[in-house]
Amino acid sequence: MRPSYFLRTIRNNCPRCGKGPVLKNILKRHDRCSNCNFEYSREDGFFIGGIPISYGLISMLWIVPLLLIWMLGWMGLDWLLGLCFGGAIVLPFLTYPYCQCLWLGLYFVFAYNEMPDPTERLGDSETAD
Ligand SMILES: [Zn+2]
Repeated sequence: MRPSYFLRTIRNNCPRCGKGPVLKNILKRHDRCSNCNFEYSREDGFFIGGIPISYGLISMLWIVPLLLIWMLGWMGLDWLLGLCFGGAIVLPFLTYPYCQCLWLGLYFVFAYNEMPDPTERLGDSETAD
């Protein structure tokens, strides 16, 4: 287990070198590291793993706090339902790219044997798809 890969992606850095950004902006992800040329996707559908992370983050950071606020009586049911449904529609679009980044790091925490040697520069032959 190599938690350093996950810690790098929390800061939006490449899990391999820790320098190149994974995300271009809040809505887009790079396909490769600009520093070490590491291809982020491991296979087709790899980044679907970001969906459960997005679900967990939104549940814990949006839905649960709203439910607590509602249970304390600080907000009405109409506001609770509106904010929950609104958040359920908008927040996945905003969090999914970052959750893909987190999934990338989490994947290599456990599959660290698949990580190429960080001391070697990945060549152009590996860039041709
Ligand atoms: Zn890199």
